[in-house]
Amino acid sequence: MRLSYFRMAASFCGILLTASALAQQTPIEVTANLADAPRKLYHSDSEIPVTAGPLTLITPQWIPGNHRPTGPVSDIVGVVFTANGKPLPWRRDNVNMYEFHLDIPPGVTMLHAHLDCIVTTRVSHKLAVLEWERLMIYPADKPVRDIPIQPSLIVPAGWGVGTALTPISGGPWPVPAAGSTTKFAATSVEQLEDSPVISGQYFHEFPLAPDITPKHYIDVVSDFPDDSNLSPQLLDKISNLVREASAAYASHHYHEYHFLLTLSDVAGGEGLEHGQSSDNGVGENGFSDRAQELTNADLLSHEFTHSWNGKYRRPSELYQPDFATPQWGRLLWVYEGMTQYLGNVLAARSGLKTQAQYRDLLAMSAASLEYRPGRDWRDTEDTAVAASVLRGGNPAWFNYRRGQDYYQEGELVWLDADTLIRQKTNNQKSLTDFLHIFLGKGGNTGPLIVPYTFEELCADLNQVLPYDWAKFFHDRIYTIDPQADFDGIERGGYKVVFTDQPNPSARMFTHMEGRRYGGVDCWYSIGLRIGRDGQIADVLWNGPADKAGISPGEKIIAINGRIFSPDVLKDAIHDSKTSTEPIHVILQADDYVVHADIDYHGGERYPSLQRVEGTPDYLDDITTPLVKTDDTKPLTFRHSDESSFN
Ligand SMILES: [Zn+2]
Repeated sequence: MRLSYFRMAASFCGILLTASALAQQTPIEVTANLADAPRKLYHSDSEIPVTAGPLTLITPQWIPGNHRPTGPVSDIVGVVFTANGKPLPWRRDNVNMYEFHLDIPPGVTMLHAHLDCIVTTRVSHKLAVLEWERLMIYPADKPVRDIPIQPSLIVPAGWGVGTALTPISGGPWPVPAAGSTTKFAATSVEQLEDSPVISGQYFHEFPLAPDITPKHYIDVVSDFPDDSNLSPQLLDKISNLVREASAAYASHHYHEYHFLLTLSDVAGGEGLEHGQSSDNGVGENGFSDRAQELTNADLLSHEFTHSWNGKYRRPSELYQPDFATPQWGRLLWVYEGMTQYLGNVLAARSGLKTQAQYRDLLAMSAASLEYRPGRDWRDTEDTAVAASVLRGGNPAWFNYRRGQDYYQEGELVWLDADTLIRQKTNNQKSLTDFLHIFLGKGGNTGPLIVPYTFEELCADLNQVLPYDWAKFFHDRIYTIDPQADFDGIERGGYKVVFTDQPNPSARMFTHMEGRRYGGVDCWYSIGLRIGRDGQIADVLWNGPADKAGISPGEKIIAINGRIFSPDVLKDAIHDSKTSTEPIHVILQADDYVVHADIDYHGGERYPSLQRVEGTPDYLDDITTPLVKTDDTKPLTFRHSDESSFN
């Protein structure tokens, strides 16, 4: 549905009316029991108000922020319904696997639903993350914002809890007494889905930026005792992030905000936005190892930015009345693309990465988009429309398929827009002026979703810089373009160049454990993504290795007569510059051995940004902090070995 500004303004009232209507209904009561989390099982018991007759209950399918139907219905087991102490039969819908059909007998007003969920991600022996789609069941026939629900929680003894939900009874908090049940303030099914919980034995809660209202916290759980005790230096940077976001977005849409962070090599990586919190997962050394810290530098700033861009302001087609209706991804280049841009910019403004690192990573991102021949057959909008089928999968010919490119393409386009505004206004205005309008309209609110259209986006930009913004985006997003958008980088005072040395940030990644490809970066030379063991993940479409007939999935055994190692490959590429011979390669192709000759003579090539002297350095302007901070207020920390907090 397309909303004009006036209809959108009316929707503010609509949501407020809904909130008061919620309070007059009897809520579902759901108790999540994580006591068996270390054994990969969560349980829930729900009391659902019902009336006699047919009833369809449902669990969430299209999870907001995932942009895909990832609801874990296949892991929901042990489903038992009872009424007045007697089991009630149920039947799954033949088409929608998320729906459970029941017949409620006369005289029954409350239905009990028990669910178990098999949980193998975002959980370990010492910590657990609860996203409520694992344990929530509710009537299928109402908008989720109109269904009141009262959550409660049980966690293993001694585990601390981080969440944006408001505890109202059960105490103490945030480390509940062994065996106790913590009850939270009632909310809606829509908001509970948006309010995850983390819990763990090694738990710390740190307040952030005490000079900013409302309150912000980071809640951290880890697999080992010391990891969750974040360094004061890191906490200072995250406090800076809170200040920078407050300055850039000029409003808040939460009562208090909780960064929820797991540090675990077992529980897996995550970055999922919510309105009043974010679910962030990194490795055990994710913020203590320098290379890992750099790869994670924009995680918190990205997910935090989504509280405004994605949660508060959401493309109207991505906002559906329930979690069963497919979400349309057409404007994800705003939802995710602008967040990708702002997340990286705010990470640099906050000190989570340096300005030089910002430029290094921007060069790598821009170059990878340029070397993605799938852009010859599909435009960026199509990667957004098809978002739900483009995540993950086998990396073979990824560059020809394209992935969820609207993230990084969006980053370049929003940099293009920011530098255009700066150039045309003699650096008097910037994208920040647009953000104050687009994200700040409506002022400070509690959690609220206000949908927008492409037309509103262009109209708000037009208030900052009169320009044909519809054409601007049409040319860059909705049109097939073999070239990536480097205009913002060039207007920002830099150009993308290829040199024979990786930039300093890329060099740091080369030695990082667990990196996806590892080994040698030879994408921009011979056109291969290759693991440390010679296994080929991807081949650049129409690149030198492709022309030599090399395929994804093959494994390099030998190069120029020597057994493969990353160094042997690197030397062969280096020497290609002065050799008239092709690079001779022997490969394992399934159960066969094949030979290939790569006719390449360009030497090593790695992307970086080079300053163009005499032009305005907008990139440095953009990554300069908006806020000067000299705040030295003492902070009080909460830990899992303390039972109360002052
Ligand atoms: Zn995102």
